[in-house]
Amino acid sequence: MASLKCTKCGASVEFDTGDKFVKCSYCSSQIFIDRSGAGFYYALPFAMNENDVVGVFRRWAGGSTRAKDLDKLAQISSVKKQYFPVYLFKRDVNGAEQVFVEPAGSTTLPGLHSLKVPGGDLKVFDDKFDTAGAEMIKPDIEMAPYLSKLPGTAKEQALVYFPIWKIDYVFEQKAYVVVVSATSGEVFSGEFPGRSSGAYMAVAGIGFVAFLVEGLLAIGSPVVAGVLMAATIAAVFIAANYVARRM
Ligand SMILES: [Zn+2]
Repeated sequence: MASLKCTKCGASVEFDTGDKFVKCSYCSSQIFIDRSGAGFYYALPFAMNENDVVGVFRRWAGGSTRAKDLDKLAQISSVKKQYFPVYLFKRDVNGAEQVFVEPAGSTTLPGLHSLKVPGGDLKVFDDKFDTAGAEMIKPDIEMAPYLSKLPGTAKEQALVYFPIWKIDYVFEQKAYVVVVSATSGEVFSGEFPGRSSGAYMAVAGIGFVAFLVEGLLAIGSPVVAGVLMAATIAAVFIAANYVARRM
């Protein structure tokens, strides 16, 4: 057994050396233990409910780089409310305070390496904190390796439960996942069904070559070239329209 001082009430708290987390028996604060010392647990409240987040997803899916009609055709297979653990580091870098956020849980989900923690909304995570039915993802990454890599000197570090919505969806028999920050509504996505730009490039390329040839022709016979150019413009317009509708 070893002991540390509770960061909130100052009471002496005993823990096993293998423990990563301990609860103060006097004030019930959760304290995490690391080779670098002890710190607080915080959590951010969910600012978005399931309906909000499905709406955010549909708007994202309707974006111009997404596959045609993805907003209507994506079939949502699950929407999960989760608390994902991140480390929050406050560092003194050449006299200025900088904040760094790094994942405290191992994950393959997109975006969890670039979360932004709004400092003002942090709530102390203790027995009284309402997790609002969210699944708690356990921290399984040590803090120490991050500390040695970050610039500047340590001012403060904490573990923060970050609220996310994980949306699984299927499009054309393939499964995809996005993560939505429940504090900002920011959407994080890895691979997603994209719109093919190849067809547009082909239309533009053929149109360009036709104009080049017609331009040369215009030196000898401007009237014929003019008619052909008008026909090319119409053809490019129709082809681009077709691509936009069907592809
Ligand atoms: Zn305490």
